[in-house]
Amino acid sequence: MIRKTFSLAATFICAGALALPALAQSDADRAIDYELANSRAYDTLEYLTDNIGPRLSGSKGAALAVTWATKQLRAMKLDDVRNEPVMVPHWVRGVERATLVSHNDQKIVLTALGGSVATPENGITADVVEVSSFEELDRLGRKVAGKIVYFNNPIDMSLVESGRAFDAYSKAVEFRGAGPSHAAQYGAVAALIRSVASASLRSPHTGSLRYDEKQPKIPGAALSVEDALLVHRLLAKGERVRMHLVLTPRTLPDAPSFNVVAEIRGSERPNEIVLIGGHLDSWDLATGAIDDGSGAAMCIETMRVLKELGIKPKRTIRAVLFMNEENGLRGGHAYFDAAAKREEIAKHVAVIETDAGAATPVGFTTTLEGSALANFTRAAAPLNRIAAPLTWESSRHTGADTSPLTDAGVTGFGLTPDPRHYFDFHHSPADTLDKVDPHQLAQNTAAIAGLAVLLANQ
Ligand SMILES: [Zn+2]
Repeated sequence: MIRKTFSLAATFICAGALALPALAQSDADRAIDYELANSRAYDTLEYLTDNIGPRLSGSKGAALAVTWATKQLRAMKLDDVRNEPVMVPHWVRGVERATLVSHNDQKIVLTALGGSVATPENGITADVVEVSSFEELDRLGRKVAGKIVYFNNPIDMSLVESGRAFDAYSKAVEFRGAGPSHAAQYGAVAALIRSVASASLRSPHTGSLRYDEKQPKIPGAALSVEDALLVHRLLAKGERVRMHLVLTPRTLPDAPSFNVVAEIRGSERPNEIVLIGGHLDSWDLATGAIDDGSGAAMCIETMRVLKELGIKPKRTIRAVLFMNEENGLRGGHAYFDAAAKREEIAKHVAVIETDAGAATPVGFTTTLEGSALANFTRAAAPLNRIAAPLTWESSRHTGADTSPLTDAGVTGFGLTPDPRHYFDFHHSPADTLDKVDPHQLAQNTAAIAGLAVLLANQ
């Protein structure tokens, strides 16, 4: 993909490198100070997670979250709050149960991968074959026919501990997406992965699989790390491991839903947009506090802070609570299509996505590079007093929901809270409110609000 040049961003950077107008700095400072002293982000997150609960697309929780968030934003008397329609997948989990019939019917803890088809009603009973790579699976070929393929894919903990948790995740997760269809082409009857997790108390971590339409669809599930290790140890001893597996998820017809869009219109350049976004949907196993209730709360809270302070940004600041990031990205694409219809894509000066939890903010990823980035980081100095000075890292990918925009050349920013424990809880039954610290959530919100105001005012 060829990236266009960012004319608006370039204007910002050149001016920013010379002198940042006092007004811009002062608005960003005010937003940061106000949020750190008066944050209500945690209250917002608490209602979303504790009172509404899990919010998988198509579910009652997701619909309630749309209604509630819209009402919260409307109560702020912003310049516009609207729902933009999007049809979303509607997948329902059902029963998930497994035992090792070869080893005294020991219970195995697992969870279906999002989008998985069901086993027959009475389940399947088959031998388990372990592979650690697609190459190894290819070498076995038809030898896995009639069997359950287990992808042993440990996450690289040295990467996680050095702060590169997202890199470690991307590497380990490829078997979750493509594993089931890859195993199906050789006649496997189900595919298992080891949960993509950096810690475990025997909690399985879900996430979407992607079926290749050319292959038969077989069920896919994630073992808890402990159960994955058990299966591995038994197989390593040369024992025959035979599993009984029952999964009864269902894919219902697509359901109508919405992205929630709210904006404070620019006082000088209302047609130019700085977007802040997170996703309102979550997985169904928990209440999605870190993924991505926190991001949704940061966006709602940013609008509250700007409105209460009476900040009138020069450009429009638009908050988007995306629907269906987790199992389809339909909201991200629907937003892009609606914006394209309004001929607004090039009017997006920058997009800021927050979908990486709410631990202490350590920096942002950005599509800016080289001297443009160096100049920008000088202009963004007001953000450095929120926590430790922020790091700015060039990346082509700054967020999933905003990727259609950044792929089209819009300048992107992605908030990076300390990632070292994010994948301990991500997509698991443990992604609950208690994993979020109110002060850290306020720090992240201050970073989003401060950056949005800086970009909107220059
Ligand atoms: Zn997320």
